[in-house]
Parts: sequence; structure tokens; C-alpha cells
Amino acid sequence: MSDKYYQKVNKAFIRELQRIIETKNVFTIHEDLIDYSHDEYVGKEIQTYPEIVVKPDTTEEITQIIKLCSAHTVPVTVRGSGTGLCGGCVPIHGGVVLTFENMQRIIEIDTNNLTATVEAGVMLMDLYEALQEAGLFFPPHPGDQTATIGGIIATNAGGARAVKYGVVRHFVKGMEVVLPDGEIIDLGGKFIKNSSGYSLMHLMVGSEGTLGIITRATLSLIPPPVAVYTLVAPYQNLDDAIQTVPDILKNKIFPMAVEFIEKEPILISENYIKKSWPCSEGEAHLMVIVDGSSDEEVMKLAESISEICLRHRAMNVFVADTPQKQENILDIRSHTYEAIKNYMLEDLDITVPRSEIANFVQDIHRIEETYGIWLPTYGHAADGNVHIHIMSHRWENGVWHEIQDCHEKVPAVREVLHELGRKYKGTVSGEHGIGVIKKEFLKSYLGPRQIELIRSIKKIFDPNNILNPGKIVDVQ
Ligand SMILES: Cc1cc2nc3c(=O)[nH]c(=O)nc-3n(C[C@H](O)[C@H](O)[C@H](O)COP(=O)(O)OP(=O)(O)OC[C@H]3O[C@@H](n4cnc5c(N)ncnc54)[C@H](O)[C@@H]3O)c2cc1C
Repeated sequence: MSDKYYQKVNKAFIRELQRIIETKNVFTIHEDLIDYSHDEYVGKEIQTYPEIVVKPDTTEEITQIIKLCSAHTVPVTVRGSGTGLCGGCVPIHGGVVLTFENMQRIIEIDTNNLTATVEAGVMLMDLYEALQEAGLFFPPHPGDQTATIGGIIATNAGGARAVKYGVVRHFVKGMEVVLPDGEIIDLGGKFIKNSSGYSLMHLMVGSEGTLGIITRATLSLIPPPVAVYTLVAPYQNLDDAIQTVPDILKNKIFPMAVEFIEKEPILISENYIKKSWPCSEGEAHLMVIVDGSSDEEVMKLAESISEICLRHRAMNVFVADTPQKQENILDIRSHTYEAIKNYMLEDLDITVPRSEIANFVQDIHRIEETYGIWLPTYGHAADGNVHIHIMSHRWENGVWHEIQDCHEKVPAVREVLHELGRKYKGTVSGEHGIGVIKKEFLKSYLGPRQIELIRSIKKIFDPNNILNPGKIVDVQ
């Protein structure tokens, strides 16, 4: 859809908007729009300014706004906290950005049904805090806790704990959605079972703001684990580290998280936040988090995992058994992205069957050699979600060195990484979504028939193509 199809926001449109929501919640000045022109995707090529930003207070206001936009063919892009990594909330056709900054209420924590009902703008960290007080637990844990509930549902976010607990989709019970014609629908509910035909609710999960605006969600909760230990095992090589993982699972141990990480990203992150990882030996490390209903249970699990790691030539196993030691490790791991971001050209999150991770990562290292580029790779070893970073600089002996012709190499490297993803029967994105930057690659994984079906669904929900146009697929 070309930009010419859409109307520009004019003074008359703004006046009508100000009749719907308070003037203080309508922003048109350039300085106020800067923060809404990008998300956390590192490339600058997709940065686009909205013409206007609105911060509604209620679902009713959202229905009025979307009806107005529909009548004037003005595109609307929904934004949570903008922590997305694929340009999903970037208004690439201009128009209105609608944010949930004023809709952050935790409506109910229902201890009978074990659910939380919240407005879409509630940030994960605020939900976690409220649940801690209530003695309940929402397991999904994507890396940036400022992400909103609307955003994590719209991207079907994952995070490290997916291996044991699953991804956000598994915890969404119900939602209130404003459709592109302004109608409000309620999907799902607090019930556990549901065999009532097509699930429109699950269609909304992962739809990246292209089918409807999620205004409220009901999430399922579980009791929190009583004990949690974190183990770190250093290895001489990554292959040994990754080969350990199937053995842990074969022994019927399901850790909360299993992450692999190579030495350099750890060193960079340690240096970035001035904290120390528990061990300095080895070229690659496995970080395993186990949880359970008692200290004894978790201690036993930690012992079994340590034995398995040592059988696979781990050089040592460090067990962090106090909250302080665990926080140190998690802090370093969770700052890796931030620590390497300034020299990152692109971040891919291809996901392969977990049995293929070792082969996949070995192939990635071959690509590094062939193209003379640096691709630090880490990720969720037990769920197959591999984060590959295409870098402009390489970190050696504590210093960043520029890689020659790195920018020119990116298209070919990206292409061959996705070829590998397809070879291993993987998927283009395990948790970050498609947004604007992975549309071409989505096609190459799904093929024309599936893309056609996705386009048809988009047209049914949004015949005027005003809701987050240009994301996931292009609609003619
Ligand atoms: C340091 C870092 C670590 C990260 N780690 C992880 C990780 O471990 N796992 C993971 O899955 N992701 C991770 N992410 C990515 C990001 O946090 C997630 O994609 C998150 O779900 C985005 O939430 P958000 O509120 O910021 O949404 P935004 O970035 O604002 O929007 C994301 C998409 O959701 C749509 N959207 C937002 N709100 C709504 C709504 N109410 N209704 C309809 N559509 C909506 C937007 O239009 C857009 O398409 C990480 C990001 C960073 C910066």
C-alpha cells in the first residue's frame, strides 16, 4: 500500500481528535514525536516519525479514535513500550501512534481462578511486583521488563523460561480487543477448557497490532517456585556445552531456563556493568536455572545437572544458591544485549529444533570464517531459540576493532543465516516477531500459499488497511 493511499493528518483531524480525548493527551510537536519514531531495532533505515501521538485513557476513547482514523484513512500504529526488536511499532506510513501510557491499571488479581486482568499498558515489572505481593507467579520472562502486556501478547514473547513454562500464548486466557472498525469484542475468558470453534484470541496473539488493538487481557497464573538455584558450567568449547542439553532433558529434568553463551559476550557484559561472572575459564558456558517446591528438591536437581555437565566435559560447575549470587549472574547475562548493541548491525532470532542447535551454531561459526565477520551467538539452548548478532566490530583483548567492509557483507550473511534456518526446519523468529524488517524472510520460510492466507485474514479484519500497515506482510 503506497503512502499516497493514506490521508495526511490535518488541523481539522486534530480538532476532531481533541473532541474525543483531552488535549493534554494529543502530541504533535516534533520533539514529542522523536521517541515514537523507532523501537529497539538497531538499524536507522526504518525510523519514521508519526504525524501525531495519542495517549487514550479508556477503551471507549480508543474506539472513537479508530473510527475517526478509519473515516479519514489515517493509519494507526499501536505502541507498548517500544522495546520490540523488529520495528513492529514504528509508524512506517506516518499517521497516528496510539500508546498505552495512560492505561496501566491492574484491574484484578483473582485468587480463585488464578488469573490477573490488566490493562494493556501495564509493564511486566509492575505485574511481577503486584503478583509477588499476592503470592502468585506469571512465568514468561522476556529480557526487558518494561515491555507491556499488550506488547508481549502482540509479539507472543518468549524469554528464557519458555523451556519449562512455555511462551506468552500459553498464559493468555482472555482479552478485550478494539477492531479496526472501532467495535469492541471480548475473546476467551477465565475458563480453562475451550473447544468452541476457531480461536480468534489465539489469532490475536502474535498478530503484532495488525488485526486489532488489545486493550485489556486476562492472564493465567501459577504458584511461585519455593526454591531456585542457578548453575554455571564452563566448557572448552561450545559444542560440548550444547551437547549437554539433550542429556539433561533425557534425564527428565526440565530446568526453568538453559542458556548458552560464549566467552566474549560474557567479558563484554562484565566490563559493561562492572560485575563478575562466577568463573573465567572456558570458551563457552551453560547457565541452567532450576526451580522446585523445596530446597531439597532443587538441590538434588542441581546435583544431577552438575553430574551430567561434568560427563560432557564441563571444566567445573558453579552453583549460585543465594539470591545475591543469582542476581549477579542474571544481571550479567541480561545486560549482554545492551553491552554489544552499539556495535551491532542486526540481531536475528532464528529458532531451530533443539536437537539441531549444536549443528546450527557450528555452521554459524563456519559462516563467520567464510565472510570474515563476527557473529556472537547466544541463546535459549533448550528451546532452540538462537540469538545471532551481526557485528560491525570485534571485541579482542578488551578493545573493539572495526571489521572491514562489514556493512557490505550484511545482506549476504543475513541471507545465508536464513538459508541455514530453513535447512534445519526452523522458523524465522522465535520470539521477537516479524515487524517490518523480517517480512521478506517470513515469505521464504512460509511460502506463497501461507502468505496469501495471512493477507486474506488481514483483509477480513482490516479491509481499509489502517491498522499497523506494512507489518508482517504487505497488503496490496
Ligand atoms: C534488552 C531486550 C531484551 C529482550 N528480550 C526478549 C526476550 O527474551 N524475549 C522476547 O520475546 N522478547 C524480548 N525482547 C523484545 C521485546 O521486549 C518484546 O518484543 C516485547 O514483547 C515488546 O513489548 P513492548 O510493550 O515494548 O511492545 P512494542 O515494541 O511497543 O510493540 C511490539 C509490537 O506489538 C504491538 N502492540 C503493542 N501493544 C499492543 C496492543 N496493546 N495491542 C495490539 N498490538 C500491540 C505493536 O504494534 C508492535 O507490533 C527484548 C528486547 C530488549 C530491548
